[in-house]
Amino acid sequence: EYSQKWDEVDNYLVSHLVEEDPVLQQVLANNQQAGLPAHDVAPNQGKLLALFAQITGAQKVLEIGTLGAYSTIWLARALPALGKVVTLEADPHHARVAQTNIDLAGLQDKITLHTGPASDTLPTLMAEAPFDLIFIDADKPSNPLYLEWALKLSKPGTLIIGDNVVRDGAVVDPHSDDTRVQGVRRFIEMIEQEPRLSATALQTVGSKGWDGFVLARVIS
Ligand code: SAM
Repeated sequence: EYSQKWDEVDNYLVSHLVEEDPVLQQVLANNQQAGLPAHDVAPNQGKLLALFAQITGAQKVLEIGTLGAYSTIWLARALPALGKVVTLEADPHHARVAQTNIDLAGLQDKITLHTGPASDTLPTLMAEAPFDLIFIDADKPSNPLYLEWALKLSKPGTLIIGDNVVRDGAVVDPHSDDTRVQGVRRFIEMIEQEPRLSATALQTVGSKGWDGFVLARVIS
């Protein structure tokens, strides 16, 4: 089975390149204990987000979809001393667990968590824009809406990352009755049509299965 090999390779890569971290391990344990779905990014993907933040010199990051703040903590730690992450979570239980984890990581000054559907909280962020990096990782049917907001809240040079765009290959089915697949397809096709964006997407395999992400840079 391929997926077992993917797991083994991820374990090998993570053990050599991604630092063992007691706080992040505790965060994952807390999320599991609290019954959250295991939809956190993998450790090597968390490190990739951190590297993207550092490569772009990001000071202000927006995340849509907090879950238990695992990716949020990766991003916040990558920022300079005065850097900030704003993260949006609809589910009050997820948000409570996330805030506990943010406090555990000692990042309460760097991370602001807004509870409520992102469609309600995004319009309140105009005063905090522009963001340097925007990570879209919430309900996939809303990806087209989130892309519109990401563009409003960005500036030339902003990096927009959209997670879970391959979905075990389901993304290629134009007739899919899965609204998440339709949301992701519309998202990709909106990026194609958007002259303000230069983008690519990569498939990934690993401990989280077969998926992928979109990387889009705001050029004007
Ligand atoms: N970024 C997280 C990480 O890697 O650790 C994982 C996020 S998880 C894939 C998606 C999250 O989006 C869930 O916690 C879910 O409750 C949240 N969500 C779903 N619909 C939402 C909405 N309308 N607004 C904001 N968050 C939403």
